[in-house]
Amino acid sequence: MDKLAKLRAQFDQLGVDGLLITNGVNRRYLTGFTGSAGTVVITKTEACLFVDFRYVDQAHSQVKNYSVIQLERESIYTGVAQMAERLGISRLGFEQGNLTYHLHAQYTEALHGEMVPLSGVIESLRTIKTAEELQKIKTAVEISDSAFSHILTYIRQGVTEIDVANELEFYMRKQGATSSSFDIIIASGHRSALPHGVASTKVIETGDMVTLDFGAYYEGYRSDMTRTIAVGQPKEELKSIYTIVLDSLSNALAGITPGITGREADAFSRDYITEKGYGEQYGHGSGHGLGLDLHEEIFMSPKCDKLVETGMVLTVEPGIYIPGLGGVRIEDDILVTANGNEILTKSPKELIIL
Ligand code: ZN
Ligand code: ZN
Repeated sequence: MDKLAKLRAQFDQLGVDGLLITNGVNRRYLTGFTGSAGTVVITKTEACLFVDFRYVDQAHSQVKNYSVIQLERESIYTGVAQMAERLGISRLGFEQGNLTYHLHAQYTEALHGEMVPLSGVIESLRTIKTAEELQKIKTAVEISDSAFSHILTYIRQGVTEIDVANELEFYMRKQGATSSSFDIIIASGHRSALPHGVASTKVIETGDMVTLDFGAYYEGYRSDMTRTIAVGQPKEELKSIYTIVLDSLSNALAGITPGITGREADAFSRDYITEKGYGEQYGHGSGHGLGLDLHEEIFMSPKCDKLVETGMVLTVEPGIYIPGLGGVRIEDDILVTANGNEILTKSPKELIIL
């Protein structure tokens, strides 16, 4: 079934006879249109992309299964209302996490039918990657793997975290990435205890652990990997934490398979780290879906009851963070396969001491 058929098949269950899509990533996923503004309406019989004049040519060349309708930016909601009226739409589903209060008021006033708040409808379709999506993700992962081996020749005592981040970004762009897939995290020494320590002016010193969390943005898709390395000999406790995190990751990679819940997938690394006495220092979820968005469904954590399914691309990223001392996180990207999973990230995981 194609994406439109899959959505239409859900209309009765969702209690709608049409869908209004305003989230830009979902718009791109459904239509292939990469412009930064536009509104999608899907009914049982029609599928339309409304754009203003800036995007008309682009939409015509990129979009296949939708009619492209040009309207002034300010009057798209009246165009949607006219379409709903013409097709007798009485319950139009909208993305409640995206539509602004202001636009919702305008739609409500223009429409004769009812606006039905929905969540996660397109996002759950997006969890299972198509072959074409997978190819783009794999290329993004290859670029970040190659960037990791490059950066090992660059990092040394005396360079700043920002120097490292800039070098990574420049290298990934030279390899074909549009950009890095998010603000690069380079967290060295005591800063490695910050799970999201975006690169700072701190100078990397001998004895520092350095956490590098980065990815490539390639044709709309993202990779996301983390490695923690040492510059000179790190303290013994940091080395032992490294081994615990690596073993917990290996447990998760060995265990993640279709049919288990996100909670069970999370427990493979969390239970191991807790057994070793560091459960309190592992305060984040163990991984997330990856694709057009950096963080997308499913989110593996002790609260996640969604199922792991074949065709999902997920990160697995256990970590331990000790304020004042430092931290370790190691993150791979995986594809869930019928029998388990395939590790997409190929960079080495044993502790590298530069
Ligand atoms: Zn990451
Ligand atoms: Zn991640």
